[in-house]
Amino acid sequence: MSLKIQHIVPEIQAVFHGNSNLEIDTVSIDSRSLQNNSGTLFFALTGANNDAHHYIEDLISKGVQNFVVNYIPNNLEEKANFLVVENTLKALQDFASYYRKSFHFPIIGITGSNGKTIVKEWLNFLLSPDYNIIRSPKSYNSQVGVPLSVISINEKHNLGIFEAGISTKNEMEKLEKIIQPTIGILTNIGSAHDEGFLNLEEKVIEKLRLFENSEILIYQKNDLVDSIINKKTKTFTWSFSDEKANVLIAPKSIAGKTQLSIQYSAISFDAIIPFQDKASVENAINCLMTLLYLGYLPEVIKERMQLLYSVEMRLKVKNGINNTALIDDSYSSDYQSLKIALDFLEQQKQYKKKTIILSDIIQSGLPIDALYHKVSELITSNKIDRIIAIGEEISVYSGHFKNIITYKNKAEFLADFKNLIFENETILIKGARIFQFEEITTLLEEKTHETVLEINLNAISHNLNFFRSKLKPETKLMVMVKAFGYGSGGFEIAKLLEYHKVDYLGVAFADEGISLKSAGITLPIMVMNPENTSFSAIIEHQLEPEIYSIKGLRAFLKIAEQKNLEKYPVHIKLDTGMHRLGFQENDLEELISTLKNTPSIKVKSILSHMATSDDLEHHEFAKSQIALFEKLSSKIVSELSINPIRHILNTSGISNYPEAQYDMVRLGIGVYGVSNDASETKYLENVGTLKSIISQIRTIPAGESVGYGRRFMADSETKIATIPIGYADGIPRSWGNETGFVMIKNQKANIVGSVCMDMLMVNVTNIECLEGDSVIIFGENPSVSLIAEKLGTIPYEILTGISHRVKRVFYRE
Ligand SMILES: *Cc1c(COP(=O)(O)O)cnc(C)c1O
Repeated sequence: MSLKIQHIVPEIQAVFHGNSNLEIDTVSIDSRSLQNNSGTLFFALTGANNDAHHYIEDLISKGVQNFVVNYIPNNLEEKANFLVVENTLKALQDFASYYRKSFHFPIIGITGSNGKTIVKEWLNFLLSPDYNIIRSPKSYNSQVGVPLSVISINEKHNLGIFEAGISTKNEMEKLEKIIQPTIGILTNIGSAHDEGFLNLEEKVIEKLRLFENSEILIYQKNDLVDSIINKKTKTFTWSFSDEKANVLIAPKSIAGKTQLSIQYSAISFDAIIPFQDKASVENAINCLMTLLYLGYLPEVIKERMQLLYSVEMRLKVKNGINNTALIDDSYSSDYQSLKIALDFLEQQKQYKKKTIILSDIIQSGLPIDALYHKVSELITSNKIDRIIAIGEEISVYSGHFKNIITYKNKAEFLADFKNLIFENETILIKGARIFQFEEITTLLEEKTHETVLEINLNAISHNLNFFRSKLKPETKLMVMVKAFGYGSGGFEIAKLLEYHKVDYLGVAFADEGISLKSAGITLPIMVMNPENTSFSAIIEHQLEPEIYSIKGLRAFLKIAEQKNLEKYPVHIKLDTGMHRLGFQENDLEELISTLKNTPSIKVKSILSHMATSDDLEHHEFAKSQIALFEKLSSKIVSELSINPIRHILNTSGISNYPEAQYDMVRLGIGVYGVSNDASETKYLENVGTLKSIISQIRTIPAGESVGYGRRFMADSETKIATIPIGYADGIPRSWGNETGFVMIKNQKANIVGSVCMDMLMVNVTNIECLEGDSVIIFGENPSVSLIAEKLGTIPYEILTGISHRVKRVFYRE
């Protein structure tokens, strides 16, 4: 892209301030990306508590010169170019539609409730031998993701594949204007009654808006869509049974695969796909229909369809050998996805040193020399310490890169593997599918057993923003990451929170804070339970202690004075009714007199904690705690003439007592996706999914028993699967003996017999499953809240009880 600012101004209806002769070559909305530079047009988007206008000054200092804004921040008028608009998101969308109009090749637009990303990735695979394809990266299908995807089109592309996702009415019209699809694909529309729509019909009407100007629409023939569809729209339909469809398909399972017998007017042929589940079969057929529509011959279709593969849509962070962190993106390597992966690497880098293992870049649409030149610029701007390049092509262009080691192919790399050193670094593994870098990932991965707790980082961001939207703009936010981030992971979550610019982190003990600081977290961290013996370490690592007793205060003061500290931040905890830790009303006089004339410390904040913020039955008590906090904290503030941050609310407090936000709130369990209020839970996204696999399956006759103490007796022939997870991993023993269940292939399997230390057994008599199949212990279903409720405990206990021997894997959609 290379565009003059003066041409953009009228297209987004902006009022211009600055030098209109400048040119831009990229667009950004992420102030934290290391890729922002002088050629960037930065759109300052605003969200519920996140306003990119605050970062403009910083971006100017990093060389960005062009901004689309709602207003010009103070004192910056002369320092950059500003395109002032009413709504920066709308401007981004308008810009994308304008940009899209300059290209005239076919664009495939995909929407539906399920399967969009898979159909997109598969079509990319199936069509890439013949086209230079631009497609939306990952699942960029939202009001922001779609314009960003379209803006990446360049002159060398000759086919586009974009997906569109909506969550409520009137959104599709905007996406239609941006994508302007010529070929439409409607994937499975689901039967779910989605939030945001009155009913299924309204949802379908809205989705079909994407295809209003398409030359053709491909879908599985069904009455609902047929009745709604605009009569002018040309369709190309398929069905398993309806003879009126253009293409009739008969599926047949054979040895783990599906054979599709296809009947299309005079043509009939068979194609095999390596999947059996209903969703994959439907997605594959939508792809096959597209190939038919584009005029592909049966032989080519057959040859390519049998190679379809499981799509890994997520960037995963895994623990690697010798203290390394691996970011596994070994399924694609195009320029756009490299940009995204590099941003993710920067956000998640656990070790300062950054290595990238990179294959040839496929399908950029650019001339090859220009491509590697751009790739080298990108890698330089992201400050990568070492590049390990694998592939004939990238080896030829290695001169563009610094600190590069090259291998002609993967075999050469593997042969040299033992001579390479990988330690204390973050490694991005990024390769095109044909290079099959998963073999490299496996080599570098720390070896543990099959049980993992998968943590969805997008869900954490979502939940954080949900609670932020409940806060007044000036209210600060502390997020509690105690107990290893409520069991979800310490460093990775802290890093994400730092990225989202929360104000404080809270931990229970000094060692938790020390490990975060040592790993490079720079946010201030409050330690709630500092032992006197840890004070020196606290100071050494710049942690901030909570002080809850005169004894503790004196001890800390003594050390602070010995070390000649000045204004060291401490947090004063008041006991307003929880009766756990804190100064009570009658301690106040002594507290105030001790705090007077103590230049070595500074009261950074005053806090208290509520005992019943989640239980409206104790509403009066909660109110009385807030009132006492007001009284006691005001007294300290006025007698010491100080201006500390005051805070009392935890997650439930934020929801139930918004009037008591004071200057800060302390968000805990909510960010991990759990609310004590069912009506709120539906706005939160599930964060942790505990997964394992089936180790062994056996069938036992009636009368046999399962497990210790023979607590399960089979009353008929029963198929039993053994899962390698037990109470030592944190599964409560009380969840056994048919109280609890796991999910296998989306079906419930009751736990039979007692949960053992490292294993449990489930009844899979009615489930078609194999050894090695994936098992969900908790996640969306059963949720941690459900398990807690059934067992008479609270989600906190289940979450924090998952043992550290269970590997945590972090991913982003
Ligand atoms: C754990 C904790 C919180 C967070 O509580 P949630 O219910 O998880 O939101 C807040 N304040 C203090 C003092 C805590 O110990």
